[in-house]
Amino acid sequence: MAAGVFLDRDGTLNIEVDYLRTPDDLRLIDGAAASVRRLNNAGLVTCVISNQSGVARGFLTEADLIPIHAKLRAELAHEGATLDGIYYCPHHPTAGIAPYNVECDCRKPKPGMLIKASKEFNFDLQRSFVVGDSVVDMQAGNTVGATTILVQTGYGKQSLLTCREQNIPIGHVAASIIEATEFILDKRKGVRSHNE
Ligand SMILES: [Mg+2]
Ligand SMILES: [Zn+2]
Repeated sequence: MAAGVFLDRDGTLNIEVDYLRTPDDLRLIDGAAASVRRLNNAGLVTCVISNQSGVARGFLTEADLIPIHAKLRAELAHEGATLDGIYYCPHHPTAGIAPYNVECDCRKPKPGMLIKASKEFNFDLQRSFVVGDSVVDMQAGNTVGATTILVQTGYGKQSLLTCREQNIPIGHVAASIIEATEFILDKRKGVRSHNE
């Protein structure tokens, strides 16, 4: 069974701008495209998992996400990288507007998006990786038994402090998606040589 890499979007793949609303605001973090390409080449399923409560809050619509994600894919494709899936949660349990102001099962730290992707792409969550800059990324990954990697871009530095204060396990701390990718590929190499 295949393994996957779940990538948070804002602060992990692209620069965090607090509720990104237009494609013009999307800028990839240095090395993000090359990193995704390396994951692609290693045969890992790559899926974005992104909380987009800006939709519930009325800052943007689900239709607005289409050109944003098209730009994300285009910027990655420019360097030969592809995403197998993009999953987002438009909800918020308390803030915002109907029909999005609901307690859903996809908003991280809940693992709904990870479970959905693992079913659609038939991969093993326990052999998979979650890369993100937020506490909720670590929690969602920990819940499904994935290896969690906290990047220090975006909100990563603050999240590291919070995880330490609250004893939330982190599998690995990486400077950025570049180092997270190194860690994943090293681990995979270990798995392969162990099996040989
Ligand atoms: Mg993030
Ligand atoms: Zn949701």
